[in-house]
Amino acid sequence: MAFTFRHYPRRLAAAALAAVMACAPLARAQLPTLGDESEMTSSAERRLGEKIARELYRDPDYIDDPVLVEYVQGVWQPLLAASRARGDLTAELDQRFAWQVLLGKDRTVNAFALPGGWMGLHLGLISVTTSRDELASVLAHELSHVTQRHISRLTSQEKRQAPWVIGAMILGALAGRKSPDAANAMISGSQAVAMQGQLNFSRDMEREADRVGYNVLTQAGFDPQGFVTMFNKLTQAARLNDSGDYPYLRTHPMTTERAADMQARQQLLPREKAPAAPSLEHSLMAARARALSAVGVDALRTLVHDAASMPANVAPVRRASLLYSASLAASRLRDTGTAVTQAQRLADQLKDDAVGARLARLLLAEVSIAGGRAQSALPLLDANATKRPEVLLWSHARLATGGAPEVAQRLQTWVAQQPRDAEAWHTLSAAYTAQGQQLRAIRADAEAQVAVLDYAAAVDRLKAAQDLVRRGGGGGDHIEASIIDSRTREVESLLREQSLER
Ligand SMILES: [Zn+2]
Repeated sequence: MAFTFRHYPRRLAAAALAAVMACAPLARAQLPTLGDESEMTSSAERRLGEKIARELYRDPDYIDDPVLVEYVQGVWQPLLAASRARGDLTAELDQRFAWQVLLGKDRTVNAFALPGGWMGLHLGLISVTTSRDELASVLAHELSHVTQRHISRLTSQEKRQAPWVIGAMILGALAGRKSPDAANAMISGSQAVAMQGQLNFSRDMEREADRVGYNVLTQAGFDPQGFVTMFNKLTQAARLNDSGDYPYLRTHPMTTERAADMQARQQLLPREKAPAAPSLEHSLMAARARALSAVGVDALRTLVHDAASMPANVAPVRRASLLYSASLAASRLRDTGTAVTQAQRLADQLKDDAVGARLARLLLAEVSIAGGRAQSALPLLDANATKRPEVLLWSHARLATGGAPEVAQRLQTWVAQQPRDAEAWHTLSAAYTAQGQQLRAIRADAEAQVAVLDYAAAVDRLKAAQDLVRRGGGGGDHIEASIIDSRTREVESLLREQSLER
């Protein structure tokens, strides 16, 4: 089977746009309505965030890439822990908000905080960072917008930033990414919406997010130099760039006050320290982001060509990242021969580096499976590994080689611990289908919809499963039939909450 690491079924941009557009008129009626003077409560903000996150999950640019998700989590979780330890992240918000980072396979440089603890991060931003610390500096800044309740403060400062306006604005921004005309149509319907379409924090809020974010970053053990080099990188881009590749700069202008703050911080850093060499792991992850966000055949061919034509004396980390992006780009071009060859060269180069060797092995397995060579991928994947990229890749490889019962067994255990893992549910559904267990397959598919907050779609599937039982289908699986009945009631109640909330 054709497996790509773009795990979520790709929908037509037009369909996603229609969904967002359909949502916009509802936004005014359904979004939390509080007095204009009051700040948004944390539960109202959470509900607003869920609505927006649900649309993000349906966006064709949304990507659940297990390897990059794991890497970003490795940066995000220490930041959250530091924010907790510092008391910026209160127990109430910690519990109530989602604190999740969603990746978008957009090649532009952007990251944004959404209501309710949801974050958006474009692969383009990952691909321009040269260290984990730089990536952490951006996430720490965005995290601090949320912990400092900047979003709720926006609603109290200006009436025109009422919660429904914020919701409409963000949904409009999502639609606008696909079609500028659609965004304009929506904006003209609510004249108050800021034209750049994303949350527009005040200059003071930006400085506060810098200050708090810097402290969170250092407390989490990241190199504060990352804050400085990322800031300089953005400043440089602001000077040179006018092509729209850096939407982040529109919501984060490099003001003189921010620059002065940064200079003051920089003076406290040890001066003699040379900039850290780019780490192998980060370089590989940036290479992955580059290959996954590349648009069009020419861009992919360039990545393949860059590795083929690199000079013999290229630095090892650079060589590794060129091989990585070339292999993945070749795979996306369905040139499996090149993809496997370059991944194998990478694996040979990195065999003595534990982290690098694992990433090379995962890549080799991934491009092999994508190219229809699942059999050769299996020996690369430990059937008992507990990390998500291994679990999912092994499942795809084993499913493609007739091992559906094993896959179902392993993923049942997995989803019991990770019930929000939509991709695991999808794969489990495929494993059930392969064994003719239709009822379980439909329920797993419904659970995948619940995981991405699409309760209406989940109820549709659960009802289809109930119909099947009523018609005498489902193979007399009474246990599953009763699980389906109780899940239908639970998800229907979630759906009611989602549509009634104000
Ligand atoms: Zn900001």
